[in-house]
Amino acid sequence: MKPKFTNPFELPGKWYKGNFHLHTRTSDGGVWVEDAVRMFRERGYNVLAVTDHINTNDISGLSDKKMIVLNGAELHPPFHKRVNPNVEYHICAIGLKHGQPFPRTFMRNVQDCLDYIHKVGAVAIIAHPKDVSLVPATEMVGLKHVAGVEVWTSLSEIDMDHGDAEKEWAECMDRGMFLAATGSDDAHWAPRHGWSEVFGAWTMLKMPSLTEANVLKALRTGACYASGGPTVKDFRVVDGKAIVKCSPVTRIHFKYSGDLRLNRWAKLSKTINGFTADVSAWKWVRAVVVDAKNRKAWTNPIPVA
Ligand SMILES: [Zn+2]
Ligand SMILES: [Zn+2]
Repeated sequence: MKPKFTNPFELPGKWYKGNFHLHTRTSDGGVWVEDAVRMFRERGYNVLAVTDHINTNDISGLSDKKMIVLNGAELHPPFHKRVNPNVEYHICAIGLKHGQPFPRTFMRNVQDCLDYIHKVGAVAIIAHPKDVSLVPATEMVGLKHVAGVEVWTSLSEIDMDHGDAEKEWAECMDRGMFLAATGSDDAHWAPRHGWSEVFGAWTMLKMPSLTEANVLKALRTGACYASGGPTVKDFRVVDGKAIVKCSPVTRIHFKYSGDLRLNRWAKLSKTINGFTADVSAWKWVRAVVVDAKNRKAWTNPIPVA
């Protein structure tokens, strides 16, 4: 099985920086919507989705030419396989209308929830699979109408030491389910965390222009990558060779199904900014780059041939 994603590095357009998971005082966040938007704008973000628990916000007038604000909500349907009826998904629905009704039925069933998000034209991202309740790949595989998964969630890392869900994401791919990798900070602005989760994870989107429709399309088609630090400048396959170029890092991994990988490491105290390797024996390839502070970026998988 091959990913159906388009390779964003081969698409025309520009890169835009986004965060798709954020709480405000509308639910359990520590700041008002307007203040959250201002801080992300000042930080240079271009896309921000406000995803309070089971609530949308009035975001009218908050977008400008440089940053678009999307409405969303974080929803909590139970596991469909009922591994444990007390555990639930957290799903960020991106692109809802303000005042969107949330029918009770979908909170009882994850697929109903995902179908509803799809029906109203929004996009579903599975949030922090390793926080709150562990969502194994076996639970996620087979779900329809889900576009992406948070591979890196900075609040989960700070709060639970569980921010990195690459393993669950990779296990989904091993089972033929390809989800777009996203990075989100899940900012709650709690004083006990010192706001250190804020700006700690993001998603880069390749788009022809900054519109809500383009943002949702980029998530649906995988025209994005997740990061907690490094910048990926190029990633493609030419004549069976994978090529990645990135900001200075200390290691680069090309990965395929199972545990197959090819690696390049910088010498002690040095950095590297690219890697080329023959991956012609693989069906698809993805790249993970890691900087000297152990911050990572994850590309989506692209077909080899
Ligand atoms: Zn959550
Ligand atoms: Zn959240």
